[in-house]
Amino acid sequence: MSDTAKPAPLFDKLALIGIGLIGSSIALRARRDGLVRSVVAATRSQKTADTANRIGVVDHCGTDLAAAVKDADLVIICTPVGACGEAMKTIAPAMKPGAIVSEVGSVKQAVIRDMRPHVPAGVHFVPAHPIAGTEHSGPEAGFPTLFDGRWCILTPLEGTDQGAVDRLAAFWTACGSMVEFMAPDWHDMVLGIVSHLPHLIAYTIVGTADDMAGERRSEVIKFAAGGFRDFTRIAASDPTMWRDVFLNNREAVLEILGRFQEDLFSLQRAIRWGEGDKLFELFTRTRDIRRALIDMKQA
Ligand code: NAP
Repeated sequence: MSDTAKPAPLFDKLALIGIGLIGSSIALRARRDGLVRSVVAATRSQKTADTANRIGVVDHCGTDLAAAVKDADLVIICTPVGACGEAMKTIAPAMKPGAIVSEVGSVKQAVIRDMRPHVPAGVHFVPAHPIAGTEHSGPEAGFPTLFDGRWCILTPLEGTDQGAVDRLAAFWTACGSMVEFMAPDWHDMVLGIVSHLPHLIAYTIVGTADDMAGERRSEVIKFAAGGFRDFTRIAASDPTMWRDVFLNNREAVLEILGRFQEDLFSLQRAIRWGEGDKLFELFTRTRDIRRALIDMKQA
């Protein structure tokens, strides 16, 4: 996009708390398309701040969270889910009245529970979750097109200023996302099925293979074809982020795991008793889901 074609910025100052994959991807997109006039960040460690400054992903990155949000009209907390509440508490006294504070956590109910009590009066809290990511983390993992064509789910709370919700939705749309609205509990159930359970399965399968392989580990790696290889990619996802997801979406994940175990036992039984039709019927049904995803351009 040429400078003359750029629309007016949607926000003056964007502050990102946490500058890993998601934070840096937001920064890169916002700067590329002139969505904000300035973008600063604050992170926990000096090492990550140094990296962010060296690669120039933001105007400035420090380790003082409260200093970063001063005068910001949009603040997005991009830390692991378990750190959102504490981060909100730290920045609260420095937030500008009328500003929007959001976050990008993969779990909504627990993050809302932890952040909401610390949001100052006059600041608009609008939770969001961009359904986009990779197995890489840190500021060097970000890229400006991460959110292109991907959903971003907003879970606004009752009584939230509609203007603030609309402005955040416009920001995510400008980042390339398709915006959808959901209730926080429904978000956690849906994401439990489509994202959290698959990650848990991947961690399990790769762990089981590693345990079984023993000294023949190199052979498992050597012969890892399509299926297992795909699982290893998912199982390489950030341990801190995923530990926090499971601890903070416990109810939904346990509910879904219960159902999954029932279905798994049913398949185990079908294999034991040679019920080929049952297997064939399921594998045909699941293939249709893949085709539907391809049609929706989400494959
Ligand atoms: P990441 O690459 O690991 O980056 C996390 C950032 O948060 C780092 O800058 C880290 O700082 C900082 N941080 C960690 N603990 C902190 C604390 N206590 N106080 C302040 N900063 C802290 O993580 P990410 O992949 O960007 O994920 C961030 C959030 O996005 C998570 O809530 C995750 O659920 C959500 N999300 C992730 C994905 C995905 O696929 N990765 C997709 C959608 C949403 P230091 O490096 O300085 O320690």
